Amino acid sequence: IYTNLIKLENDPTKTIGLVTLIEDITEIRKLEKMRSDFVANVSHELKTPLTSISGFVETLKSGAIEDEEVKNRFLDIIDIETERLARLIDDILTLSDIENSQHKVLHQEILPSDTLKEVEEMMKPIATNKAIELLTEIDLNLPMIYGNRDWFKQMLINLIDNAIKYTPREGKVQLTAYKRYSNLIISVKDTGIGIPKKDIPRLFERFYRVDKARSRKVGGTGLGLAIVKHIVLSFNGKIKVNSEQDKGSEFIIILPISSAK
Ligand code: ADP
Repeated sequence: IYTNLIKLENDPTKTIGLVTLIEDITEIRKLEKMRSDFVANVSHELKTPLTSISGFVETLKSGAIEDEEVKNRFLDIIDIETERLARLIDDILTLSDIENSQHKVLHQEILPSDTLKEVEEMMKPIATNKAIELLTEIDLNLPMIYGNRDWFKQMLINLIDNAIKYTPREGKVQLTAYKRYSNLIISVKDTGIGIPKKDIPRLFERFYRVDKARSRKVGGTGLGLAIVKHIVLSFNGKIKVNSEQDKGSEFIIILPISSAK
């Protein structure tokens, strides 16, 4: 709070008014805290695979390399952890790229049905690998939308990838897209493990996971949904989650078609 007394010009001993300026720094403080929390989280997340890699390298160097079977097992772990590290860095860069260009979003023409089909083709082998059926119901007359095409694709990939990751073998993932009023609705629904009610409000926070061990096991970075949220925002859209534990989850994206320029 800054306070200034206003004095009478020809008689500075007389005060005629008081100006008080209150600057709200709570928002700035909050942003600073979020930033420093993020740096701390990133450092921690990067350190976990690094510690594991250096641990296994050390063990190999101090003799384990002699045993062919142990050696191969350790090299596999090092391989997995290196991949995790690369994915984490990719996701951090994607997130920061999306956040930094939020005010200068590309307005490319996007034909949703083409991208949806492309993503379906891309994700099918991953689903098949887990004996999961990837079903699609895509309206062929979806209107054109405008925005960053790569981000639109990334958003779909992240949601379908999660649906596959958190659905046990032989489950189903359904991708639906249609137009309702002036919105494009995209739903990704699975028959997976579901999400406890209490966790739903925090899902889109960076590095928030319902079950850290499970996320690690399926190769998650904890950033997938934070990326999705920022992309949805760049389309002026909304995202909703319906979920029931042990039954499945549905992520619904609502993008205004009027986001066209
Ligand atoms: P992660 O890399 O851990 O998957 P995300 O940001 O993509 O990170 O998702 C955050 C958390 O939300 C996940 O760790 C998981 O607990 C939960 N989650 C996301 N999608 C689903 C889903 N389809 N079914 C069940 N849980 C999900």
